Amino acid sequence: MKLCRFNETRLGCVQDDTVLDVTAALDVIPGARWPLPARGDLLIRHLDAVRERVADLRAGAASHDVSEVTLCSPVANPTKLIGAPVNYQTHIDEAEADEGIVFDQNVIKPISESLCFLKACSSLVGPGQGVTRSFPNRRTDHELELAVVIGREARGIARERALDCVAGYTMGLDMTVRGAEDRSIRKSVDSYSVLGPWLTTADEIDDPNNLDLRLRLNGEVRQDSNTRHLIYDVQTLISKCSEFYTLLPGDVIYTGTPAGVGPVNPGDVLDCEIEGIGSMRVPVR
Ligand code: MN
Repeated sequence: MKLCRFNETRLGCVQDDTVLDVTAALDVIPGARWPLPARGDLLIRHLDAVRERVADLRAGAASHDVSEVTLCSPVANPTKLIGAPVNYQTHIDEAEADEGIVFDQNVIKPISESLCFLKACSSLVGPGQGVTRSFPNRRTDHELELAVVIGREARGIARERALDCVAGYTMGLDMTVRGAEDRSIRKSVDSYSVLGPWLTTADEIDDPNNLDLRLRLNGEVRQDSNTRHLIYDVQTLISKCSEFYTLLPGDVIYTGTPAGVGPVNPGDVLDCEIEGIGSMRVPVR
């Protein structure tokens, strides 16, 4: 099942190029008052019940063309946006060859040493909102990545059980302003974490470590790879991260970007696609 959030408050089920409005399925999520009774995103925490209701509602649902709706981030309230740095050898190679990427870090630490970083949740947007470039005198790069959405609380998860914790997959743009600051601030600028176009539930993806991904900048292919080239694959990322913190429903892992990163400017259009998920168009302002 492909579930999207659209037009700010609506829930959609995507079939081909059509969005079925299944917002009424949100009624199965228990109402909550502060302090919230459980941590994590409430929709993802109750995803099984929501999906059951969506299946019932589809037949009578109003429909829209995908191109006519404004797509929001498929996860509304993650507690963590986790990023994997330098997780493709081809991106390490290009970074080491380009001072504009590495800046004053003399050595790029391998992921086995650095593991992951966090992006601020306030930077999260959907493709319909697009990226607003900040710091016009500095370079902001696109990084297309497979994004994993965690489905349940998970701590100390063995690699072999890691995929049991996944709600589904989506596409992430880990936008990055180059410079000397820590990653956690350069990758957390407002609108620099794009997620979309929807959540493809885990049952639709047989092997997340074998998906083609491609990014076009203004129609020109810039990133073109496959997740089988991940250094830490999806299971390893989940397992390693869960050694340090409890993963919660709706938490997102940006799995890292392959070669081909490069600068964006206002007016640019990023067309992103990942096999099994779909495609999204993201404008840069
Ligand atoms: Mn990245």
